[in-house]
Amino acid sequence: MARLYQNPKGTKDVLPEEQQYWKHIETTMQRVAELYGYEKLTLPIFEETALFRRGVGEGTDIVEKEMYTFSDKGGSSMTLRPEFTAGVVRAYLQNGMASRTRPVKLWSAGPVFRYERPQAGRYRQFTQFNVEAIGELDPALDFEIMSAAWHLYDALGFRKLNFQINSIGCPLCRPGYLRKLKDYYRGRLSGICDDCRTRIEKNPLRLLDCKNASCRPVIETAPSIGDCLCAECGDHFRTLRGYLDSLSRPYTVNPRLVRGLDYYTKTVFEVWAEGIGAQNAVCGGGRYDGLIELLGGPPTPAVGFAAGIERMVLTLQAHEISVPPIPSPKVYFVCLDDTARAEAVSLISRVRLAGVEAVMGFGGRSLKAQLREADRKGIPLAVILGSDEIRSQKAQVKHMQSGTQDMVPLSELPAFLTARTG
Ligand code: ATP
Ligand code: MG
Repeated sequence: MARLYQNPKGTKDVLPEEQQYWKHIETTMQRVAELYGYEKLTLPIFEETALFRRGVGEGTDIVEKEMYTFSDKGGSSMTLRPEFTAGVVRAYLQNGMASRTRPVKLWSAGPVFRYERPQAGRYRQFTQFNVEAIGELDPALDFEIMSAAWHLYDALGFRKLNFQINSIGCPLCRPGYLRKLKDYYRGRLSGICDDCRTRIEKNPLRLLDCKNASCRPVIETAPSIGDCLCAECGDHFRTLRGYLDSLSRPYTVNPRLVRGLDYYTKTVFEVWAEGIGAQNAVCGGGRYDGLIELLGGPPTPAVGFAAGIERMVLTLQAHEISVPPIPSPKVYFVCLDDTARAEAVSLISRVRLAGVEAVMGFGGRSLKAQLREADRKGIPLAVILGSDEIRSQKAQVKHMQSGTQDMVPLSELPAFLTARTG
């Protein structure tokens, strides 16, 4: 006997029972994108490896440990996308979108791949909703991006969300801060983990989000970047906070919130949800004013966010938020013999064309077995077709719940069923 196969570790089958959550999230996010004037961009799932090495950054966990990289049959190195932004910027530059009216506002959604240690809410294939606005430095655009995230979670019915924001400065002011941070850490080498000892030289900003318990107290008392921002970054952050305050959007300034790479600038933010365990970040975003130039384009500011759809599903379930059901069959065609089945196949197609969800019984099963199936599936109406019905050109329509029946001429069936299920 052949062996049974298993899905790869860190991947997930989304069964029909869970699809209503996905559909609801997909419809809601598409609507939010439309409300804010973002246009859809569909991208390949794999790109040249070099794009991610540069666009995500050497020295990140993603590039160092987590990419699904392979040689294709032609010997080129390809990588399954571990995030969207690099691909969006590649497409923006390649398709001459820089000449469009700015900002260019784009959204995408689909699977991303990271070789991580799987846990609840953390997978190796997961799905992101990604939103980017390219070509504008105005803090009102940072606010718009954050508002879109807010709007999405609000429309989904999430409560108790925690918006964490910070500014990580720019190539003007960050080096001064990093000097302070490195000096601080060099004086505490014995108290920190091995990873952090290498981070001091390699990626010092990442020191601030080390998850190792021994490093926590060191992080607590580390210098804050907020005290080192240049005038432009300080103004930008103050203006953004002013917008957030005016709309009374609760948020926490978290001086430890970072993105570890030089081309991330100014605003960073995350949204945390309650009740879904340790992996509680449903959304991460920020500015990347240096990335477009780094990928060969002209200096261009940009800001965006990515939200994980699996964690949104977990949040909806944890908070017991009800979502619209996916339309299910309203009518079951019971066929009692072959003549009836021949009539049923054409009748049912007319009923479906009229917009009524309908299914039929297959094979030679008894009346009882077919009605039991309709009942088990919660289908409200059954059309019973046997040779008598075909001869008289009238069918019995049984209301499954009450048990009452109507005799309906076959020619009137589509209209009758539309009226009864509408
Ligand atoms: P985390 O700190 O949880 O690892 P991250 O900073 O790596 O998140 P981003 O790269 O900013 O996450 O991705 C944005 C969002 O994608 C996250 O907020 C989260 O909702 C989701 N996400 C990230 N990694 C995973 C994963 N392995 N499985 C499921 N969702 C994920
Ligand atoms: Mg991560």
